[in-house]
Amino acid sequence: MHNVLIIGGGLAGLVNAIVLARAGLDVVLVEKKNYPFHRVCGEYVSNETLPFLHSLGIRPHDWGAASIDHLQVTAPDGTSLEMPLDLGGYGISRYVFDEKLLKTAREAGAVCLTGTSVEDVAFDGDGFTATLSDHTTRRATYVIGAYGKRAKLDKQLNRDFVNSRSPYVGVKYHIRTDFPRNRIALHNFRDGYCGLSAVEDGKYNLCYLTTRENVRQHGSIEAMEAEVMCRNPFLQKIRQNAEFLFDKPEVINEVSFAPKTAVENHILMSGDTAGMITPLCGNGMAMAIHSAKILSSYLVESHTEGWTREKLETVYAKHWKQAFAWRLWTGRHLQSLFGDERLTGASVRLLRRFGPVARFLVRQTHGTAF
Ligand SMILES: Cc1cc2nc3c(=O)[nH]c(=O)nc-3n(C[C@H](O)[C@H](O)[C@H](O)COP(=O)(O)OP(=O)(O)OC[C@H]3O[C@@H](n4cnc5c(N)ncnc54)[C@H](O)[C@@H]3O)c2cc1C
Repeated sequence: MHNVLIIGGGLAGLVNAIVLARAGLDVVLVEKKNYPFHRVCGEYVSNETLPFLHSLGIRPHDWGAASIDHLQVTAPDGTSLEMPLDLGGYGISRYVFDEKLLKTAREAGAVCLTGTSVEDVAFDGDGFTATLSDHTTRRATYVIGAYGKRAKLDKQLNRDFVNSRSPYVGVKYHIRTDFPRNRIALHNFRDGYCGLSAVEDGKYNLCYLTTRENVRQHGSIEAMEAEVMCRNPFLQKIRQNAEFLFDKPEVINEVSFAPKTAVENHILMSGDTAGMITPLCGNGMAMAIHSAKILSSYLVESHTEGWTREKLETVYAKHWKQAFAWRLWTGRHLQSLFGDERLTGASVRLLRRFGPVARFLVRQTHGTAF
């Protein structure tokens, strides 16, 4: 019987594993892929994460992260808005970040099973039985769901959001290009937006969100990029001049921003599994880390103080809502401003004239340092 079984080894799962294992709990983490691997993600992390990460001895800048303190937003016609980022952030690839965190989790004493997925998880009153893809089972008192935005397990748990399809598709490249390393750009195009920012080793992340329909209409990702994205002169320049480092892009479907719940069938959800913010706000990674901080500290307290399961679930769900519900709501509504060419153009022109409003909006989607 483990104290905690964690499903998924992204940022949320790994940070939970590090904190819980260091507190002396018996932790097993199960991740279906083998590290290191690329994920679709803009790889810009808000600086709000740094005090907590530093307290754990985790220093992304030691792993080559780029410091980012300026934002550029462009409309599909090339109208551009620039401003400083009050809090700022850093750029580091998930390829590097996740593998370093895996190493840290193992050093802390967490058992991390990779290349293995959790196929089923059942609660029986005392604890959980998880069935793994290698046909073994594991028992645990608590289970953390940190398996990302959408997985087969959501269907088994009959979670509300899985019944409706999401229209969004995410695409990512690593490139080499000529662009200030302290700037993050958000280039808009019809039915989508594309981020560009530095990561380690002089590389850049180019990552965009668009609709499945936009890709379907043009027949392929490549055709959509040539015919739609490149109407934005900034994206055209990147396409013409940058060196693309992947053979083919990383692509994901079913990116859903629908509301979810933080506890489901007694499983404590963390990161995107509890709720995903639109990439437009650029801080899903910070939220994944923050939700892991909140959950792991309550789990440690519950373990040492002998809380009931009900108390732990109630306290965590309440704190999660207080910390994130407003940001998720703002992100969903801000996202609706983008995609329509004329509306995006008008918004960028308006925000260019009213700088403080633009900074206010950016602040609403970011948290404060934790
Ligand atoms: C296009 C796009 C751009 C983005 N850009 C940014 C950005 O610039 N900055 C930012 O902060 N956020 C960004 N995000 C959001 C960010 O990627 C997520 O919020 C973050 O990855 C959430 O981390 P997580 O640990 O919750 O989930 P994940 O990182 O998705 O990890 C979940 C893990 O669970 C594993 N898993 C799934 N099912 C199982 C199973 N059954 N058994 C075992 N393992 C399983 C998966 O393999 C995966 O490794 C972006 C998202 C998208 C879609």
